[in-house]
Amino acid sequence: VAKRLEGKTIVVTGASSGIGRSTAFEFARTSPKNLRLILTARRIDTLKEIAAEITKEVGEGVKVLPVQLDVSKPEEVRAFVGNLPEEWRDINVLVNNAGLVKGLAKAPEIVEEDINIMFNTNVTGLINMTQAILPIFKKRPDGGAGDIINIGSIAGREPYPGGSIYCATKAAVRSFTDALRKELIATRIRVMEIDPGQVETEFSVVRFYGDKAKADAVYAGCDPLTPDDIAEVVVFVAGRRENVVVADTLIFPSHQA
Ligand code: NDP
Repeated sequence: VAKRLEGKTIVVTGASSGIGRSTAFEFARTSPKNLRLILTARRIDTLKEIAAEITKEVGEGVKVLPVQLDVSKPEEVRAFVGNLPEEWRDINVLVNNAGLVKGLAKAPEIVEEDINIMFNTNVTGLINMTQAILPIFKKRPDGGAGDIINIGSIAGREPYPGGSIYCATKAAVRSFTDALRKELIATRIRVMEIDPGQVETEFSVVRFYGDKAKADAVYAGCDPLTPDDIAEVVVFVAGRRENVVVADTLIFPSHQA
C-alpha cells in the first residue's frame, strides 16, 4: 500500500477534526516517504497545528499544506486549485469528507438556516470540490485517473425521525456518487463511497450547537467507532491496485446492527 500511495498528492476536506484529521494521519503513517497532503477546512489554525503534528511524527517525507477552504462557497472552491503552488496541483486523491448535521428536530420544525448549511456543505460542497478537481484527473491518459472518496453515512440508507434533512443530504451524496461512477466507467477514475455508522467525533457537538453534555449523552452506554476506524478504510480503498474499485462500504459499530 505504501508503494502504491508513494508520490501521490491527496486532498482531504474537513481535515481539522474527526474522520478527516484521522485520515490525514493515516495516509502519512502508511506512506511516510513521498506524499503530499493538502488539508482543508475553515479552521486554518487547527489545520496548521495538525500539519506540524504530522511532520513531527513522520518527518519531512510527507509534505503537508494547510489551506483554509469553505466547501460551501463555490467561489472559494473555484479559486482553490488555481491558488495552489504549482508543485501541489497534480492531485491524485480527493477525500470529500467535510460535512455536518445541525439539530435533531421533526421536519416541520427544522429552521431554514440549518437546512441550508447541511445541503450547502454535505451536498453542494461535495459537488463543488468534485467539479474543481475532476479536470485534473481527466487530463491523464486513457480518459483519466484519480480517486474520489466520498464520505456518506448510514443515514443516507436508513433515514431516522428527527434527521430528515441530514439523511436526505447523505442520500443525495449516494445518488451523486453512483451516477458519477457510471459516467466515468472505463476510465481509471475511481469513485468510491464510505458510509459510517456512529463515530465519536465533534459531529454530535456540532449537531447540538456546541452543547457538549448533550453530545456526550449520545455515546453513553454504547461503543462507537473511532475516527481511526474510518480513516483505515479510506486509506485501504485508496491503496488498492488501480483496477480495483471498492465502490461502496458500510461500516458501523456492532451495537448499531
Ligand atoms: P467533525 O465535526 O469532527 O468534522 C467535520 C469536519 O468538516 C471538520 O473538520 C469541519 O471543519 C469540516 N467542515 C464543516 N463544514 C465545512 C465547510 N463548510 N467547509 C469545509 N469544511 C467544513 O465530524 P466527523 O469527522 O464525524 O464528520 C466527517 C464526515 O463524516 C461528515 O461528512 C459526516 O457527515 C460523516 N459522518 C459522520 C458520522 C459520525 O457519527 N461522526 C457518521 C456518518 C458519517 P471546520 O469546522 O474547521 O470547517
